[in-house]
Amino acid sequence: MLLADLHSHSTASDGLLTPIDLVLRAKRQYVTHLALTDHDEIVGLAEARAAGKACQVTVINGVELSSLWERKTVHIVGLFLNPDNLALNTALHQVRETRHTRGKKIAEKLAALGIANAWEGANHFVTNNDLISRAHFARFLVDAGYVAHQQKAFDRYLTEGKPAFVAPPWPSIAQSVATILGAGGVAVLAHPGRYHLTQTGRRRLITEFKDCGGEAIEVFSSSHTPKDNEQFVGFAHYFGLAASLGSDFHGDHSRFDLGEIPPLPDGLTPVWSLREEQFYP
Ligand code: AMP
Ligand code: MN
Ligand code: MN
Ligand code: MN
Repeated sequence: MLLADLHSHSTASDGLLTPIDLVLRAKRQYVTHLALTDHDEIVGLAEARAAGKACQVTVINGVELSSLWERKTVHIVGLFLNPDNLALNTALHQVRETRHTRGKKIAEKLAALGIANAWEGANHFVTNNDLISRAHFARFLVDAGYVAHQQKAFDRYLTEGKPAFVAPPWPSIAQSVATILGAGGVAVLAHPGRYHLTQTGRRRLITEFKDCGGEAIEVFSSSHTPKDNEQFVGFAHYFGLAASLGSDFHGDHSRFDLGEIPPLPDGLTPVWSLREEQFYP
């Protein structure tokens, strides 16, 4: 039986499991095909692939690119890409630098709010010295007793419109899609239900994403409501896009475990049909 989970995170970005432990957990969850899609980072892929080989989970090379569309952060997942591609590595390096600069600014804003040493505090939770995420600041804010749980850290401080939010100059969705295509990958619009868009906005985003060369959308995601799922199945049909799905698993606190996503409905083109030779090696 095929069970694909094509969106997950490890300690190479803001996940809590090492790539090896993530793959072992996928195995326990009966996942047959796992994509590791760390934020702006691919350093975990080699370890994940090796672990997958050892326990017979097919590991798909992936990444989740922080991108901008109409001044909003939109995530583009790249699947089936060549991790040795030079332009990909250069682009990822630049985005991680942007994360570093943004992190320093977040710490300054928190300091102005009376929360000292947030940079050091967040770095205490960083598991890849090249990558800092708002999730690390959230873990610091919980640990230091400023908020009760991570969601509160976002709601009070870190999310757009809150006092420690810093608008990051991510690459445009066009640039991110081009980077993925240049590395031989398939560009997937990640959790399209998550961007606080109206119906019209959702259509506009999908249209532009497709015009840039995007080929698939996540129809099923842990951050979707059942209604979102239904709507994006319809959009995949309407726009002629392939369909992907993923838990977006980060660790024990995640709402969905690896593999806990319904199978794609009949009639949709699964994203792996675009790269059968890599999906069924
Ligand atoms: P960043 O990519 O550094 O802006 O951080 C985004 C990450 O923070 C996401 O991938 C999640 O892991 C986490 N995150 C974002 N928004 C929230 C939220 N509202 N509640 C909890 N975690 C969140
Ligand atoms: Mn994350
Ligand atoms: Mn995301
Ligand atoms: Mn993700």
